[in-house]
Amino acid sequence: MKLLRGYLADFVSLLFPELCPACQASLVANEYIICSDCRYNLPYTNFHLQADNIVAQQFYGKIKVEAAYALYYFTKGGKVQNLMHHFKYKGMQRIGNLVGNIAGTQLAENSIFNTTDLIIPVPLHKKRLQERGYNQSTCFAEGLAEKLHAAVEDNNLQRKVATATQTHKSRFARFENMQEVFTIKHPERLINKHVLLVDDIVTTGSTLEACGIELLKIPGLTLSIATIAYAQ
Ligand SMILES: [Zn+2]
Repeated sequence: MKLLRGYLADFVSLLFPELCPACQASLVANEYIICSDCRYNLPYTNFHLQADNIVAQQFYGKIKVEAAYALYYFTKGGKVQNLMHHFKYKGMQRIGNLVGNIAGTQLAENSIFNTTDLIIPVPLHKKRLQERGYNQSTCFAEGLAEKLHAAVEDNNLQRKVATATQTHKSRFARFENMQEVFTIKHPERLINKHVLLVDDIVTTGSTLEACGIELLKIPGLTLSIATIAYAQ
């Protein structure tokens, strides 16, 4: 029976092969979510090996960050964009856990990141969360947590108001807007902790900065940042 079920599974996958969300190639046996070619050849940043990387530079002179990292470079029309699209809009939550595991394996080798106590995902607004059914940053955080042996602190950092209209504002106005948006429900849980703040994509870093400003008000808290991708 077990053998038959195995044949059946092979037959079904022959008819409806699972596709790699990054390159659309059919997955073969032993490939999980992302094909082997993408697994090796997606544009890794290796920022865990470079303390003064371009993500860290986004925060210089703004907020004190112990270490900052992104797993991949994001380019328009590239494979990482395809991957992120499936992750955010096609219900493929599993991608977040997988890339979290991949990033976590790199970060566990880094002497700053491996002292992480708590991982905090940037919260989605409630309405967006209801539409999507999951916060993609939480999926990433859970994958990271497994490799860093840290806990995920969800729902402590909270978003107060929707920011859907902010794309029409100037960068400065946008930042002003963002500053009002985040609040911490239980700051006492974060005292003296090394917090890893995580998001899906970092561009200017203004969202992470706004969260960081709030977090750094907590006594003894040190802050590091990790994202799945960096987009210029
Ligand atoms: Zn692929």
